[in-house]
Amino acid sequence: MNFSEFELNPKIQSGIKACGYIKPTAIQEQAIPHALRGLDIMGLAQTGTGKTAAFVLPILERLLQGKRKKPRALVLSPTRELAEQTLEFFLLLGRHTGLRGVSVYGGVSKAGQVQKIRAGVDIVVACPGRLLDLLRDRAVDLSGIQTLVLDESDRMLDMGFMPDIRSIMRQLPPERQNMLFSATMPADILILADQILRKPVLIEVNHKKALQNITQSLYPVERSPKPEMLLSLLKQKCSGATLVFTKTRHMATKLARRLSQAGIRARELQGNMSQNNRTRVMKDFQKGSFNVLVATDIASRGIDVAGISHVINYDMPDTVESYTHRIGRTGRAAGSGEASTFVEPKDYRLIKAIERGQEQRLHRKFLKVASI
Ligand code: AMP
Repeated sequence: MNFSEFELNPKIQSGIKACGYIKPTAIQEQAIPHALRGLDIMGLAQTGTGKTAAFVLPILERLLQGKRKKPRALVLSPTRELAEQTLEFFLLLGRHTGLRGVSVYGGVSKAGQVQKIRAGVDIVVACPGRLLDLLRDRAVDLSGIQTLVLDESDRMLDMGFMPDIRSIMRQLPPERQNMLFSATMPADILILADQILRKPVLIEVNHKKALQNITQSLYPVERSPKPEMLLSLLKQKCSGATLVFTKTRHMATKLARRLSQAGIRARELQGNMSQNNRTRVMKDFQKGSFNVLVATDIASRGIDVAGISHVINYDMPDTVESYTHRIGRTGRAAGSGEASTFVEPKDYRLIKAIERGQEQRLHRKFLKVASI
């Protein structure tokens, strides 16, 4: 299938071309035609499947058809990073449309966001807390919203955003299109979907398929200390952009320092850093100014750096979903990637669960570790 079959406005088609997309991904192929007809969507898909463009493109189309006055599309995101990246998608794919957007999240001053809203925006991509804050200040008017997207709903639920989301929804016009995306479908999400969506089209992207182009390896931690294993792995196998996950902020800082001392161009990304600092690090990583980013889960949520070739779980994540999320940062839509996980004896229960979910046994590998 080809993008031209969606018969999108030529301005949007040239945005797609400029992004270098040639074929729609599975979720885009399934979701876009329904979304263009204005139907509600329940999308079961994680990052790495192309889910963002699956809602961005039909929203852009609808926005081009209507009159511009108040914000007409609202996307709720669990983290500022994801909010910023989603807005970026709108701006890139919609670069020839003249449509305007703003991202709204806490941790930075309200003034800049309010100013942009006042100047006129069509799209608001927001974290629930700050948006509610702006609603209380009467700084934003959501009475013109035609489309609502709840992105990464399972994460928003986990992070306790549901009461905020419900308060926001009370301020939206009842007649609107709703799209709910989630990587998993626990009971809470089903309940939420039932309350919000009207006759939704269910779209599910096979997780296994999404992981198909990622080579996964397990490295049992037995004799060598983990920092030395990491150095050896980086030196032996990782030439491209590499994302290393640690459990704690402290460990992210410590490891980034240690890698730098060993001559590897590494930086950290963790929740203690200011928003400006985090944005700068992400931009530098994107530009390729350094090649190893050591990050914690929270800080890295929503990271979308094209061309990450390797993800390393220095510390095992807590859940199967989190494992899938992390390794989904590599092997994005078009490319292929590698994921390596250091496994301590206590981690084998989770490994079993991951293998059960994927219906495959992951390769165990051993590293030649040079002492340093
Ligand atoms: P997402 O699942 O929305 O986080 O997107 C994953 C990655 O796939 C992003 O880097 C997108 O730029 C990229 N992408 C989305 N759609 C396509 C497409 N049709 N062809 C190639 N890459 C795409």
